[in-house]
Amino acid sequence: MRPGRAEIVGGGFGGLVAAAALAERGWSVRLHERRGVIDAEGYGIAVQPNMMLIFRALGIADAVIAGGARIDRRDSLDGAGNVVLSRKTERSPYRIDRRHIVRLLARRAAEAGAEIGLGSRVTGISPDGSVTLGSGDRLRGDLVVLADGAESSLRASLGLLKRRVWQRDGAVRVTVPRTDEEIAEDEVSGTAMIEAWSDNRRVLYCPVNDTENYVLLGSLVDDRAGKATPIDPKVWSRSFPGLSAFLARVAAQADWDEARWARFQTVRLKRWWKGPVAVLGDAAHAMPPYLAQGAGHAMMNALGLAVALDDEPDLASAFRAWERRERPVTEHTQRWTRIYGNTIFLPRPLKRVSIAAERRIPWIGRQYLHAAHVVPTGCAHLVGE
Ligand SMILES: Cc1cc2nc3c(=O)[nH]c(=O)nc-3n(C[C@H](O)[C@H](O)[C@H](O)COP(=O)(O)OP(=O)(O)OC[C@H]3O[C@@H](n4cnc5c(N)ncnc54)[C@H](O)[C@@H]3O)c2cc1C
Repeated sequence: MRPGRAEIVGGGFGGLVAAAALAERGWSVRLHERRGVIDAEGYGIAVQPNMMLIFRALGIADAVIAGGARIDRRDSLDGAGNVVLSRKTERSPYRIDRRHIVRLLARRAAEAGAEIGLGSRVTGISPDGSVTLGSGDRLRGDLVVLADGAESSLRASLGLLKRRVWQRDGAVRVTVPRTDEEIAEDEVSGTAMIEAWSDNRRVLYCPVNDTENYVLLGSLVDDRAGKATPIDPKVWSRSFPGLSAFLARVAAQADWDEARWARFQTVRLKRWWKGPVAVLGDAAHAMPPYLAQGAGHAMMNALGLAVALDDEPDLASAFRAWERRERPVTEHTQRWTRIYGNTIFLPRPLKRVSIAAERRIPWIGRQYLHAAHVVPTGCAHLVGE
C-alpha cells in the first residue's frame, strides 16, 4: 500500500522499531512519548539471536553491542553463596543496558525521518484513527500504532482485551556500580551472570556495561518484606547469607527513587488491530520475563508490521497478514514462559522431576529457545551473511 501518515504511541522497544521501520519505508512518522526523554525502565536486557537480527536490519548491531557486556558464564548459587552449577553462556551472551538500546533505536528512527515528540502524552485513541494529546490537540493517522506498554491506559478504549493473567511473582530491578575488585576478577575468570534462589526469592546480577551491574530481585506477590523498596538488606540476607555484602551494597548504592516492584503478567487481545490502529509490544502481548523475549517480540512484531504494510495492497489485508504471521510465534513464547515460570515454584521433589525431564527430552529445551532462533520477518536476507 502507499505509505501515509503514522501516529505512534510509546517510545519503548516496540514503538521505536515501528517508527524506524515505517520511516525507512516512506511513511511520515510522528512518535509520541509521554516522558521528557527516551529512556527505559528496567535496565539489563538479554540480547538473543532474534533480537540481534533486528538490530542488524536497522544497522545498529555493532553500536548496541559496544555499549553492553558479554557474559561468559551463568553461575547458579545456593543461599549460602556456593556455586552449584556453572555453564558457559550460549543462549544470550550479551546483557545490555536498555537505556543504551532505546537511545540507539531513537537515533535510528530520527535518522530515517521520524519525528519524536517527547513529553507528548496521548490521552485518547479511537478506532477511527484519531489520537488526542494531553495538550488537547487531536491528530489523525492513516495508521496508528499503539505501543504504550503492559500498563497501557489506552488499550481499553479499543475493546480488544481478551485476558490479563497475573503471575504469583514480580521483581524490582536496579543498577549498582561495579567495584574495582569485580572488574579485576572478571578480567581473570570471565564475566558471570549470578543467579540464586532461596525462600521463593531470586537474586540475579551481572555486568551490563563497563561500570554497572544489573540487579534483579524477585519475590512472590504476598512477600511484603521482599517486595519493599529500598530493600532491607537484613531481610534479603536471611535468604541469601552468602550474598549479604553484595545486598548491603545494593541497598546503599542503587537509585531507589526510580525503582519499583512490578508484578509479572500475561496479556492477550482478541485481535491485534481495530480500524487503522495496530497494537503491539507489551500492550498486546505482555509476558513474564523468564525467557527474556518480551522486548524481542515487541521489536519483531513492529518490524513485521512495517514489512506487511509494504507487501499488501491495503491496511486491512496488511493487518491480517501481519497477525497471521507473527501471533503464533508470540503466543508460543507466552505459553512456554509461563510453563517455565510455573516450574520455578514447584516443591523441591517435583522441581527435580521437571529439571530431569528437561535434560532427558531435548524437545522441551527447544520450545524454550524457539523464539530466540526465529528469523524475524524482514531479516531473512541477513542469515548466513
Ligand atoms: C524483570 C523484567 C525483565 C525483563 N527482561 C527482558 C529481557 O531480558 N529481554 C527481553 O526481550 N525482554 C525483557 N523484558 C520484557 C521487556 O521489558 C518488555 O517486553 C518491553 O519493554 C516491551 O516493550 P514495549 O515497547 O511494548 O513497551 P515499553 O518498553 O513499556 O514502552 C512503552 C512506552 O510507552 C510510553 N507510554 C506509555 N503510555 C503512554 C502515553 N499515554 N502516551 C505516550 N507514551 C506513553 C512509556 O513511557 C514507554 O516509554 C523484561 C521484563 C521484566 C519485567
